[in-house]
Parts: sequence; C-alpha cells; structure tokens
Amino acid sequence: MKHSKLHNFLGSKLMAQILVWVAPLLLIVPNIALDITEISYDLPARAINVLLPAGVYLMLMSLWRRPGRMVVFLLPEMVLAAFQIVLLFLYGESIIAVDMFLNVVTTNVHEAGELLANLETAIVMVVVLYLPLLVFGILSWVKGGELSRRSRRKSLIAGAVSTLAGAIVLAVACVVDSYSPGRQLFPVNVVSNMIEAGHRTAMTKDYFLASEDFRFNTVCTDTTMTPTLVVLVIGETSRADNWQLGGYSRDTNPHLSHRADLTFFPRTLSESNTTHKSVPLMMSHLDASHFRDIYRSKGVIDAFGEAGYTTAWLSNQQRNGALIDFFGEQADTIHFLNDDGAHHFDMDLIEPLCRFIADNREGRTFAVLHTYGSHFNYRDRAPEDYRHFSPEDYVAASPSSRDRLLNAYDNTILYTDAVVDSVISTVEAAGIPAAVVYLADHGEDIFDDSRERFLHASPTPTYYQIHVPMLVWLSEGYKEQHPQAAAALEHNADRNVSSSRSTFHTLLDLGALSCEYFDPQASLISADYAEPERVYLNDYNEAVPLAASGLRDADLKLLLQKSISR
Ligand SMILES: [Zn+2]
Repeated sequence: MKHSKLHNFLGSKLMAQILVWVAPLLLIVPNIALDITEISYDLPARAINVLLPAGVYLMLMSLWRRPGRMVVFLLPEMVLAAFQIVLLFLYGESIIAVDMFLNVVTTNVHEAGELLANLETAIVMVVVLYLPLLVFGILSWVKGGELSRRSRRKSLIAGAVSTLAGAIVLAVACVVDSYSPGRQLFPVNVVSNMIEAGHRTAMTKDYFLASEDFRFNTVCTDTTMTPTLVVLVIGETSRADNWQLGGYSRDTNPHLSHRADLTFFPRTLSESNTTHKSVPLMMSHLDASHFRDIYRSKGVIDAFGEAGYTTAWLSNQQRNGALIDFFGEQADTIHFLNDDGAHHFDMDLIEPLCRFIADNREGRTFAVLHTYGSHFNYRDRAPEDYRHFSPEDYVAASPSSRDRLLNAYDNTILYTDAVVDSVISTVEAAGIPAAVVYLADHGEDIFDDSRERFLHASPTPTYYQIHVPMLVWLSEGYKEQHPQAAAALEHNADRNVSSSRSTFHTLLDLGALSCEYFDPQASLISADYAEPERVYLNDYNEAVPLAASGLRDADLKLLLQKSISR
C-alpha cells in the first residue's frame, strides 16, 4: 500500500541520512548568499562564513541517532536564516542589523504588515526552503528514523573536518586581518546584533535616570522681550530629488516655490537613514560622532524651555516609547493626533498649532511638528484632492510598478508642500517675528537603479536615503529685527549642510538662545557657519566617512554630480 510505503520511508535510515546532509545545506543558504552580496567580505571571510557553520551544522545533525530531533532543535536557526533571506530580497545586501531589531520594536504593527505584504516572493521562498525540512524532520523523528552507525560516523568526520578548516582560517584571519566574527560570520553577527539591540533598549529604558541632571543652561541673548515664534516641522521619508525646489522637473512645490522669503538648502544630507536615530540627532546638540551621549542628553525643546519659551510637541506619528517621544515630551503642550485611534493627514496638525499660537501670543514660543510625510504606504499619506500625478494605484511594490509608485510618492510631496505652506501661513498670521524650519529625517529608495532597492532604514544607505530637503523661512518682522540672519541664510544656501548637525544650532540661533553646547559654526543663520565633515552613523553607532558607509560608486557619483560632498 502506498500509505505504508510512505510511512516506512519517513522512518527509514535513508530519510535520516538525507536530513543529515540536506539540513546543513539549507541552513547555509544565507551564508552563501551573503558571500555573494557583501563586498566588504574578503576571501578568508567568505571561506570562514561557509566552512565553519556548515561543519558545525553537520556535527550537530550527527549528534543524536535520530537527526529529526535536531532539525526541531534548529528551528530558531531556521527562523534567523529565513529573516536573513527576506532581508536580502528586500535590500540586496547586509546582515540583519541592530537597527532592524529596533525598528521592529519602534515601528507599529500596522506598518510592519504593510511592508510584509510586499514581500510575498521572499516569504514564499523561505517557506519552500524551511517548512518541508521542518515537517520531514518532525515526521522522521516521530517515526523513529535513525542513522546507521557508519553513516553517522561519516557525517561527523566530514563536519569536524569542515569546522577545523574554518577554525584555522578564522584564527589566521583574526591575527593577520583583525577579522571579527561578530561582524562577518552568520549567524554569530546577527546574534551579536540582537544583543546590542537589547543593550540599546536598556539604555533607552534608563534614559530618564541618565538624563535627569542634564542642563543646557540656555540663556536668551535678546533682552528686548519681543514675542518670538519658532516652528520646526520634521518631515518623514522625503527625498530632496523629488522637490521642485531642489530642481525636480515635476511641479511638486506649487506653493512653496512661490514664496520669495524662503531659503532651500539643496546640499543637505542626513547622517542616518532611520527615523529613530535621525530625529533624535536633529533634536539634540549632538551629531553622529557623539551619538552615544544622546542617551543622557536632553533635546532642543528642553533647551528652549530652559530659557523661558513656551513649547509644544504636535505629532502625527505613533508613540514609539523611545528617544523621539522623550525629547517631544519635554514640551509644555504635548499632542499626539493618533491617540484618538483615527487616521490623520498631516494637515490635521494645523488646528492644534493655531490653538497653541493663539494661547501664547504674548510670549516667546517654540513648536515642533512631527509629520508622517511620505512614509510608505504612499497612498495613505495624501487625501484624494492631492492625487495629481496618476496613475498611482499600484498593487504591489515592485520594480515594474515604479512609475505608479513614483506618482503616488510625488503626490505625498505635493501634499507636504501644502502642509508646510499652511504652517508658514499660520505662523505669518500671528503677526510677530517668526521663523519656520522644515527638514526631513531621511529619504527613500523607489527602485531607482539596477539595485532595485525600495524603502529606507536599510543596514547600509543609498544616495536617495540620505539626500533630504531642508528649508528655512523668516517672517518680515524677523528679518527686520535680525538682518544679519537673513544675510547669512542667503550666503549659506548653496553650502553643504548636515541636517543632523545643524538643526539644533540653527533653531537655537533663531530663538536668540545660547548655551555651552551651542555651536555657531553649525548654525545656518550665522556668518560663522562652516561646512561639515561628511559622516554617516552606521549600524554600530560609529560615525564613518561616506565612502565607508556602504554607499556604492553609483551613490558617490550622484553626490559628486550634485556637488554634495566634502
Ligand atoms: Zn523616518
């Protein structure tokens, strides 16, 4: 009978033997893939990455007489391998980064669902690779599938030889090459990243205690007591290349491009491609080189508050329980639109802004708006009236839908243009000396070149993920009071800017504030402004030069073409 034949096969020595050899082969699929995708791995690193894990898996599979049991024990390893393969599909390179683990914690589930829905191919492949292995492993175990003594010895020896060979290359590479398994050996590197993510989560938890005694000791250098209004609008996932103000061929800034009193900085780069690092960086006095101090520092809202400004944090993003929230919650007025559970467009931030301004008309005020900007899913970010570029009804995020995705994306920029313009109009209507700063936390990949990359927050950046729009608007009253600020803005407009470094100092300067942490060389309204050394905050929270950030030749060429370097 067919049924009993299958039953016999599942419990057979042959089945057990197949499992012993096939399981290691499937488990090193991510290792082989990484050897191909990682340009930073040299030959010894590639050899170690295959020999050592393959050997260890083979020995593990030969450990018990019933290898099916080990397949089940290796389930966590399969999960890691599956995640790694999905990631390689998504970004075309890189191991699962520390930031990926943190993004899972700090991104709401709905958003993660949207991403996963666009990853069908990767998920199908993972299921095809590992689900049958798991099922056959369980069945073989249950039905008593055992290895013969001879075949068990054979696989054990093969495993030991491979492990030993890998260990020898590793020992030599460590001495000669300062090779680090924690960075280049899968899955050791991913486990090490997981531990680092845990460490950073602990630092986040300790934030209140660690930052308790931090003081900016900010003082106001303007003693006239004139009411002043400073507003920061934090954009989301906006790329400078899609801004008409940045030279884009499409009319994505119909409102802002008609404002003469506005300075756009076309050579602005963010030092991070991920929200949870980029936003705290711009809100703090620190840049990438001192990022680790951020866990014991306070943010720009606190610096304004210390000097007597009334402050507000108005957000259209979900609470994430981390640094962005902590810095935001240092404000006098805190309002998260999403707390009501409804879907909001960024324009909904105007109403609480109006209220805040009206309530504090007599004094000095500082408001920060955290928008949802152009974050995927693009079609959810702009209301119907802004669906100007069409067709924009993509079904899946794939290179073949690029035109539609780009239309939908450009509609979000069109909408952002209207939102920022409304913020400026609202501020202008207050009739007091005022300034508005807008900048995005990072950009986005939209299948722009042969790499076919999509979204942001990947372990290594691209040009499209770090080139961001940034602008400063000054009211007539402000310019009259501070003519030197207006002149400096104009002078600095074409210079290289790091949004991560300059936002805090520019804002403080706009509010006529000073403190020991204030650096006039980072302020865009200062005649002392000096262009930054270009650095990037990598996954290990190290500030590295752009050339070592993972940017490829194509990215560096684009930066050169647009004269954004140094
Ligand atoms: Zn972001």
